[in-house]
Parts: sequence; C-alpha cells; structure tokens
Amino acid sequence: MFNAQCSMNNVLILGSGPAGYTAAIYLGRSGQKATIIEGLQPGGQLTTTTVVENFPGFPDGIDANELMDNMRQQALNYGAEILPNSAVSTDLSRSPYTVTLDDGTVLTSPVLIIATGASAKYLGLSDEEKYRGMGVSACATCDGFFYRRKVVAVVGGGDTACEEATYLAGLAEKVYLVVRKPFLRATQSMQQRVFDNPKIEILFESNVTGLYGTDGVEGAHIVHRKGEADERTYDLPISGLFLAIGHKPNSDIFLPWIETDEQGYIVTRGATPVTNLPGVFAAGDVADPLYRQAINAAASGCRAAMEAINFMKSLNVD
Ligand code: NDP
Repeated sequence: MFNAQCSMNNVLILGSGPAGYTAAIYLGRSGQKATIIEGLQPGGQLTTTTVVENFPGFPDGIDANELMDNMRQQALNYGAEILPNSAVSTDLSRSPYTVTLDDGTVLTSPVLIIATGASAKYLGLSDEEKYRGMGVSACATCDGFFYRRKVVAVVGGGDTACEEATYLAGLAEKVYLVVRKPFLRATQSMQQRVFDNPKIEILFESNVTGLYGTDGVEGAHIVHRKGEADERTYDLPISGLFLAIGHKPNSDIFLPWIETDEQGYIVTRGATPVTNLPGVFAAGDVADPLYRQAINAAASGCRAAMEAINFMKSLNVD
C-alpha cells in the first residue's frame, strides 16, 4: 500500500476499465511496474452492462463483470499494483507529475496513463437531483431490479438506451423509450431488438421536462414535438426514469494542464495516445469521442503502454 510517494519507476495508470487494465498488462509484460488507481467504478463502465457480445474471443458473449474481473486478474498476474482509491486532483505543471488520492496519499511519477473513462450524462433537470436514488438512475443493470413489474422510461435513442430498455423489459411491466428525434441512432440490431419487444413503446420526438411524485418518482412531464404547431404536453405515469443520453469524459482533474476538446475529451496526437504533456498518455473513452467501444479502449491502453515504455527508456528508467 502506498502511504508515501510513488517510486520513480512506477507508471501511474488512472482508471480501471479495459484501457487501464490492458496498459498494465503490457507494462507488466515488459518488466515495468504499474500502479493502477482504480477509481470510483472499478472495472469501468462495462460493469454497468450485462453481456458483452462484441468483444472478440467470446463467440457466445461474456458477462461484462466477468470480462473485467479477468482483465484485472491478468493485470495482477503481471505484477500490477491496484489501489482501491480515486484520484481527486493532479498537478501536471511539471514532471514528475503529482496525483493526490481521496485518502490524501500523494503519488508522483514522470509517466501517467490517463484512462479515467467517461460518466453518464443527465438532462440537467433539478428533478433529477431531487429524485436521484428515488426513481432516477443512469444504470439499468445496477437499479433495474427495483422496478420489477413496474412501468419505467428510458431517455435516449442510442445503443445504450436500446440496451437499457431491452434489459429493463425483462424485469418491468412496461418500458417507454423517450427519444427526442423521430428516429433511433442505435445500431440496426439494437433497434430491431427494441422494435421486436412488445413491452417497449417508443415515444419519438419527445422530451422529459420534469418529474413528479411524493416519496419517489410517480411520473414524468413529457413534451411531444416541442415548438411545433401540434406540440402536446402530458404526464406519463412511471416509477423510474433511466438516463441513457451519452457520457461526459472524466478529464476535469487534469485541467488546466491537459489539452481537451470543447466536450472535454483529451486531445491526443492523431491515433496515438500522446498528449500535449511529455510522459502523459491518454487511453480509452476519456480520449475517444468517436468509437467508445471496449475493444478500442483496450487497444488504446496497449498503445499507451508501448508509448510509456519508450518514454521510460528515453529517461533511462528501467
Ligand atoms: P450516443 O451518443 O450514441 O446516443 C445518445 C442518445 O441520447 C442519442 O439518441 C441522443 O439523441 C440522445 N440525447 C443526447 N442528449 C440528449 C438530451 N439532452 N435529451 C434527450 N436525448 C438526448 O450514446 P450511447 O451511450 O448510446 O452510445 C455511446 C457509444 O457507445 C456509441 O458508439 C455506441 O455505439 C456504443 N455502445 C455500444 C454498445 C454495444 O455495442 N453493446 C452498447 C452501448 C453503447 P440524438 O440522436 O438526437 O443526438
């Protein structure tokens, strides 16, 4: 356990999704010591989904938590140290860089791999805060259990929303999918699953504007075709609202040193994990506004490790 500063030959990996674990595996196999700061969601976003069907090597799919447990174990097998902490602040003004953990521990290293992923976005309604944990969630697999045989709504029209709606339909009596556009953005197979599910009703061109309920969510205020001549507002009785409207990259603690785009994604040089800071590499969803798939995150973790190894060599640190 680190109670003092990290030794100079440990690469610090922030985040424990596919990017972070893969980076640790590659570093370990090259004889480099890696310390993973696991973060608030060990295993990353995948642990909030069910079965992963598109990670190569698993023809029948694999349980998402099992996949992440396997990656974690593989990282441990190659000597990674895993800290069950979150990084709360950094000082990247000079190398060696400083990372402060939630228990006050301060780690330093000349080499960081930022793999902090992204977090679910909310609509920004005050009611989301009011009912958080009382009917508002951004994780169907975490909270769906509480809505067995109830009526719920999922907001969003992408793969996540379709996946969450399909998952919830296995538990709930009925699922409304609230989609702001007149079409879904999800991949064709995901869309088909939703269309084929008799428990899911899609409310196209609709937005949630608020929630109501005494001791928890009892319904949502909906506006249909807002701003159009036939705009209609009504109340939709539901017990739970699930947000599936995308994610925000977890890059805040690296500001103002690290360069990001206007959405907060860390800017890397082309397809490399190289950031604007020497020895700081970014991998996975925190630097990927486009593809955001586990397999891409794992691949970028590999690239980050390879760059880190080269960088360590240039410092003559073995
Ligand atoms: P996306 O960005 O793909 O979709 C977000 C959805 O939310 C869109 O329908 C968007 O509407 C809607 N939305 C965004 N903001 C609002 C708002 N304020 N109010 C109402 N609706 C809103 O995010 P996902 O999380 O679905 O997917 C991200 C990536 O992860 C994608 O690349 C996806 O393919 C991938 N993914 C893959 C999975 C798999 O393969 N198993 C599972 C889950 C995700 P609009 O279309 O109008 O912008």
